[in-house]
Amino acid sequence: MTWHFALVIEPAASDSSQTVFADTFTVIDPAAPALSVGELSTQRGDGIFESVGVVDGHPQEVDAHLDRLAHSAKICDLPAPHREQWRQAVTTAAEHTPRRGEGVIKLILSRGVEHGPAPTAWVTSGSAPDFALARAHGVRVVTLDRGYGLDVPSRAPWLLLGAKTLSYAVNMAALREAKRRGADDAIFVTSDGFVLEAPTASLVLRVDGRFVTPAPNGGILHGTTQLSLFEHLEAQGLHTGYEVVPVSLMARADAAWLLSSVRLAAPITSIDGKDVPVDRELTASINEYLLSPRD
Ligand code: PLP
Repeated sequence: MTWHFALVIEPAASDSSQTVFADTFTVIDPAAPALSVGELSTQRGDGIFESVGVVDGHPQEVDAHLDRLAHSAKICDLPAPHREQWRQAVTTAAEHTPRRGEGVIKLILSRGVEHGPAPTAWVTSGSAPDFALARAHGVRVVTLDRGYGLDVPSRAPWLLLGAKTLSYAVNMAALREAKRRGADDAIFVTSDGFVLEAPTASLVLRVDGRFVTPAPNGGILHGTTQLSLFEHLEAQGLHTGYEVVPVSLMARADAAWLLSSVRLAAPITSIDGKDVPVDRELTASINEYLLSPRD
C-alpha cells in the first residue's frame, strides 16, 4: 500500500461548536517519519481505526464509518471524536485520492503519546490494493477457533471485542494460519461452535433464499459494507437477517461472501475444503452496487 497523502488532526472536543476545521489539520509528507517514539498506538496498539473505501474520488459510507469510529472510541474509553471534524478530514483526504479508480482513506485515533499530548489522530489516503481476482474468482476459507465462547463479550468487555482497535496482530496471524492450511482467508468461530467474522471482513451467507450474517452483538464488528449490502438487498424485496449462526449453517449455504470496505464482495468458493456454490451473476451485481457512489 502506498500512501499518497497524510494529515495530522488536532482533535477537537466532541462538544466543540467550531464548524470549520481546516486550521486543525496539518498536512504532512506521507513518506516521512511522523510519530513520536512514545506513541501508544505503535507501542501497544492502543487506538482505533477505520478504512474507508474510495471510488473515483468518492469516499463510501462515511457516516457508517464515523458511527463505528465513535462506537470504538466509546468501548476503548477514548475521547469521543468530533464528527464534523473527522468528516472534513475525510473530505480533504478524498480530494487527494485519484479521481479515477479505487482508493482507501484510513482514519486513526490513538491514545496518544506516553506522558504526552493525547490523543493523537491522523488520516491517510492512498490507492487500494487490487482485489479484482478475489472478486471474480473467489476465496477459499478455513474456520479457525477464536478461543472463546459466544458469551465472552458480555463477560469480559475489557477484551474490547466489537471495537475496531489497532491491535490486528491476532487477525494477521489468523490469515497466515489460513495460508499455511492452503486457504486464502479465515472465518473465526467461537469455541462453542458459532460463526463470528473473518479477520478483516464480515461474512454473509445465503441460506434458503435469505441473506444471513452473524449478529454484531459485541463480539464482532458491524461491517459497513454488509450494512450497505443489506439495505440494497432489502430494497429489492430480499430477506436479510442478523442471527446467531451455528457453524453447521455454513454447510447449508448456497452462496457465501466475505465483505469489506476495500475488497468489497469476494465470493467464498470453499469452507474447510468443502465446495460452496458461487453465484457469479449476483456477485457481479453486488460488486457493481458496491462500486457505485454510496452514502
Ligand atoms: N470485521 C473485521 C474484523 C474487519 O477488520 C473488517 C474490515 O476491516 C470488517 C469486519 C468489515 O468491515 P467494513 O465492511 O466496514 O470494512
